Amino acid sequence: MIPFLDLKSINTQYRQELIDAATRVIDSGWYIQGQELKAFEQEFADYCGTTHCIGVANGLDALTLTLRAWKELGKLQEGDEVIVTANTYIASILAITENRLKAVLVEPDAATYNLCPVKTAAAITSKTKAIVAVHLYGQLAPMPEIMALADQHQLLVLEDSAQAHGAEINGKKAGNWGHASGFSFYPGKNLGALGDAGAVTTSDDELAQTIRALGNYGSHKKYENLYQGVNSRLDEMQAAMLRVKLKHLDAETQRRKEIAHAYAQGINNPALMQPIGPNTTLDTLTAHVLHLYVIRSTARAALQAHLAAAGVQTLIHYPIPPHQQQAYAHWQAQSYPLTEAIHQQVLSLPISPVMSDTDVQQVIAACNAFQAG
Ligand SMILES: *Cc1c(COP(=O)(O)O)cnc(C)c1O
Repeated sequence: MIPFLDLKSINTQYRQELIDAATRVIDSGWYIQGQELKAFEQEFADYCGTTHCIGVANGLDALTLTLRAWKELGKLQEGDEVIVTANTYIASILAITENRLKAVLVEPDAATYNLCPVKTAAAITSKTKAIVAVHLYGQLAPMPEIMALADQHQLLVLEDSAQAHGAEINGKKAGNWGHASGFSFYPGKNLGALGDAGAVTTSDDELAQTIRALGNYGSHKKYENLYQGVNSRLDEMQAAMLRVKLKHLDAETQRRKEIAHAYAQGINNPALMQPIGPNTTLDTLTAHVLHLYVIRSTARAALQAHLAAAGVQTLIHYPIPPHQQQAYAHWQAQSYPLTEAIHQQVLSLPISPVMSDTDVQQVIAACNAFQAG
């Protein structure tokens, strides 16, 4: 079976480097908020092009604490409207509702699954104060257009970059487009730790300080507490693992792009809709880092069974849209037909950076052999 994502093989490539880094942490005698975190924060801020990176415990906290910081700074208030795509992973929305802000769900662009500037503009009211721009599946949302809209209406923009480490438009990376950006380093993300981890990137000094305090019991100075904060920190061990993984991120992303490019060129089954066109060249594929290679089919269940029989493991990202989850039972009367169709049709093909060319050809052949109905 070709696994959907072969995490063990991915991390085993760097086994000795990871062991050396872990040894350095063990021998340092310092496990929380030390040199490894400091170094990783600097390296990741440099990678994204921002002045700050604040390590936190996970991606959800990165998003939640940023919105919370804007509340503490008086830039957001309970009940303010925050626009977000209806088809995102639920964490983007949990960060909004956890802060008692009102999530305004908008349908995505049908081809990119990301915010559509026209639909976003139509959702703006006098109560809209922020936009959460999710870069779903590894593709940047149309940030030049979103930032222009935000400037025009004086809105805050928080990027959800959990799936888009290194994606760029005009040389500007995910994490450096909005006023702040939340990253996840969950093991299966493109930049994955060996446990939970996350970070916020921003070039706003005041915001950076506030997030740092909020994640450390609300303390800006030892034993002095400005806010009723939480404990959300990126520990030394995970920071050390991430410093190793960051060095290899661009090479892994390149391999993901090669695999995606081979899929786009090789899969020619008209029953399957693909995320990138057959004429896309590798050099122009900069805005998409292929966290997931998501195809669509109106016969998804049959397609998934066919691929499994052909030795290809696939996953669904995601089977139930947020507005139809029990957690948001009070939204069930809302209707987002495009989002609902997407959730019924999407299927993610394997895209491990460690896949061999033979594996890639096997996936292509299996997709082309599928006959709907
Ligand atoms: C993974 C993910 C998150 C949450 O990150 P965690 O580290 O798992 O908390 C948020 N948003 C998106 C789009 C994600 O894919």
